[in-house]
Amino acid sequence: MTDVNAVVDKTNLIGMERSRLEQFFADMGEKPFRAKQVMQWIYQRGVTDFDAMTDLSQGLRSRLALVAEVNLPTAISEHQSSDGTVKWLFSSGAGQVVEAVFIPELGRGTLCISSQVGCAMDCSFCATGKQGFNRNLSAAEIVGQVWHANNSLPLRANGVRAVTNVVFMGMGEPLANYRNLVPALQVLLDDFSYGLSRRRITVSTSGIVPHINRLAEDCNVSLAVSLHAANDTLRDEIVPVNRMHPIANLLEACWNYAALRANRFITFEYVMLDGINDSIKDADDLAVLLRGRPAKINLIPFNPFPGTDYQRSPEAVITAFQNRLRSKGIVATTRRTRGDDIDAACGQLAGKVSDRIRVRLGDKKTRVARA
Ligand code: SAH
Ligand code: SF4
Repeated sequence: MTDVNAVVDKTNLIGMERSRLEQFFADMGEKPFRAKQVMQWIYQRGVTDFDAMTDLSQGLRSRLALVAEVNLPTAISEHQSSDGTVKWLFSSGAGQVVEAVFIPELGRGTLCISSQVGCAMDCSFCATGKQGFNRNLSAAEIVGQVWHANNSLPLRANGVRAVTNVVFMGMGEPLANYRNLVPALQVLLDDFSYGLSRRRITVSTSGIVPHINRLAEDCNVSLAVSLHAANDTLRDEIVPVNRMHPIANLLEACWNYAALRANRFITFEYVMLDGINDSIKDADDLAVLLRGRPAKINLIPFNPFPGTDYQRSPEAVITAFQNRLRSKGIVATTRRTRGDDIDAACGQLAGKVSDRIRVRLGDKKTRVARA
């Protein structure tokens, strides 16, 4: 006998790429094009209630309500900066919080999103890294940040949605959450969803080489690489993943990635840490690594956070560093800090994370048994 009170685990349709959604409808005995219709409702019209999806038959709507849901991350707060930047905190369960930041600029609106609750990569200058790692975000939780921003912000003057660009530069290392990253990217790119072009989506990574290679094949969106040092000794210390994937291997993967994208530029992020990586010699070493390559450098003035010993390089040092790179033919820009007054600047996205990784054993982090 069927238990009418049995709780059915509903399938969350948000964050599901079109091919899987088509299979979902096929399994229900429905035509695959239902996937396109439902995606348009969810992403393009912001509708999450199946009952309001009026081009689906009443019967299908009722059946969907029984087996499926559109379950979005819950925004627990929204802060608006004096410069127009907006920061949302999303609950990721058990009292933990991840963040997304919207940065309006002339001609575009960039949403900086999180890919993990915390981060296990332990970069020495990063507030997220200092909090440790808890878990990966699901594709639904990743795409849900974009959905939320688009549905909370007014349309742009030309009637298009607020979010024109997405960067994975919030909390977490996106390539360490590859399994959920790729479906999320597929949804963001899909014409029946937001239809963003590959150049308008940027995945930023600390340098997980095998996954850079996989991404080149699977979904070669724009790539940003957090280089931060021009030699392995320093990079081993400030970006510990370098011990596994040293600079030479990382750059080789980058040039292969760029080659597959008709040599479109890779952006190299370089945080300016006072007295650590900001000398003219560092700029010269960096130029040697990148000269003649499809590379541009984005200098990021270090954003301090409580408990850090690092300091931001003085303005004059940043300018001298940038000029030195330019004099060697390297395209170099400096990121303007936005959202300072609401702690929304790069590396200040701390959210709230309870670490599930044991404190260091020697220099290595060891994961404790999963809770
Ligand atoms: N994990 C990915 C993406 C998130 S971090 C990565 O590391 O690339 C996004 C960018 O902010 C990275 O370049 C990161 O190195 C930089 N960042 C981290 N902490 C920072 C800080 N305190 N000040 C300035 N930039 C920081
Ligand atoms: Fe993780 Fe990126 Fe922070 Fe490094 S800089 S700890 S990879 S979020």
